[in-house]
Amino acid sequence: MSNKENKKLVLYRWVWIGIFLSFQVVQLQSQEFKKGQPNFIVIFADDLGYGDLGIFGHPTIETPHLDRMANEGQKWTNFYVAASVCTPSRAALLTGRLPVRNGMASDVHRVLFPNSVNGIPKEEITLAEQLKKADYQTACIGKWHLGHKPEYLPTQNGFDYYFGIPYSNDMDFIGPKHYKKLVADGESIPTEVFNVPLMRNTAIIERPADQTTITKRYSEEAISFIKEHRSEPFFIYLAHNLPHIPLFASDGFAGKSKRGIYGDVVSEIDDGVGKIMAFLKAEGLADNTILVFTSDNGPWLSFGTHGGSAGLLRAGKGSTWEGGMRVPTLFWNPGRIQPGVITDLGNTMDFFATFSRLADIPLPEDRMLDSYDLGPTLFQGADGPRKEVFYYRGTELYAVRYGDYKLHYITQGAYGMFGEKQRHDPPLLYHLEEDPSEQFNIAQEHPEVLANIETLVKTHQSKMVMGKDQLADRE
Ligand code: MG
Repeated sequence: MSNKENKKLVLYRWVWIGIFLSFQVVQLQSQEFKKGQPNFIVIFADDLGYGDLGIFGHPTIETPHLDRMANEGQKWTNFYVAASVCTPSRAALLTGRLPVRNGMASDVHRVLFPNSVNGIPKEEITLAEQLKKADYQTACIGKWHLGHKPEYLPTQNGFDYYFGIPYSNDMDFIGPKHYKKLVADGESIPTEVFNVPLMRNTAIIERPADQTTITKRYSEEAISFIKEHRSEPFFIYLAHNLPHIPLFASDGFAGKSKRGIYGDVVSEIDDGVGKIMAFLKAEGLADNTILVFTSDNGPWLSFGTHGGSAGLLRAGKGSTWEGGMRVPTLFWNPGRIQPGVITDLGNTMDFFATFSRLADIPLPEDRMLDSYDLGPTLFQGADGPRKEVFYYRGTELYAVRYGDYKLHYITQGAYGMFGEKQRHDPPLLYHLEEDPSEQFNIAQEHPEVLANIETLVKTHQSKMVMGKDQLADRE
């Protein structure tokens, strides 16, 4: 071989090595990118109260899996939803915005009903649509309640897959007696009297949905979705219909809990959480999956023992007292989330900014968000960024928490319990860390705190642009 030919060969070799190496670098980068995108699972119970889990102090409801999730992860004791009823609370979680901004809060009807005509506006960016920007596989399993007409379903709002009852499990009632009366009379309650549809994507596959097995089926659907998409980043929004009344549990759980049917239902949800955690661990996905458990609002107290408990918090579902909007919340990601009890403020609206940051997706800049990135608290133990909570009922601002203090302009119980609507001037003031049950009004002693919160509220209201009411119109 001549010297010239030899040089040529060496050159060719280097070119090929160069091509090979650049290919490897591209591969490595894409692997790192994928690895940097954790999976997200939000398990959202319906009407589960602050005091309804073992780890949050319930004396007889057994929740061994959620308790373990708390011990291996973080238990947040000052975590909130943006509304004390289903529809607005869900809209806020999925958009990272107060429901008054996107029109999913109303003073006419508090939630959507089977004869409502609207739903979540298409201009809103749901968490699923946001994560789709980085090619996440997305599933909504369970209760939707953001519009059941075809144009408002989960599959029109960023979810690749939907399986569930599109609104509350007590709707489409066709029985002869009200649920409360059936319970009071000690009669058995057939699932068929609630003629709610069960949907897969956009088709109704069962009606009435058999609610005795619905909790189990939702957890199984979540595991199937993980199995199917285990090699790509995924987001699962698993919104259980229960323990919203009517209460149903499957054979392995019905009649087992000391707390009665309500305890049976919570135990079955807990069992599903345990199976999801076990599956993630067995598949080697636990360290790359952020699992969150929380509730959409406080307990429905007017249903007696069929409603849950807000523990030491005042009032429940429907109210802006703490029992209506502070919810039991857990984060789990073994090896990454630092175990502990977090007393900093959090809100389901924060999932939007937190997950976006973790998935490396820029936040939308053309709209007002009410979302904070909780990542530094979850992973580095840093102080939480959220300092305030706005408590709206419909479109009206009832109360504001700023740091340890909460100020009430208006108070109202829920559904005839804990008092009628009352305006307060001067407002009521409570120190929530010293007085979590909101028993001792200290407004007179702290005029400076009142003044600070008033300033915060003025700024908040000066920037508020309300969305058009989507809940008012019905057929
Ligand atoms: Mg609810």
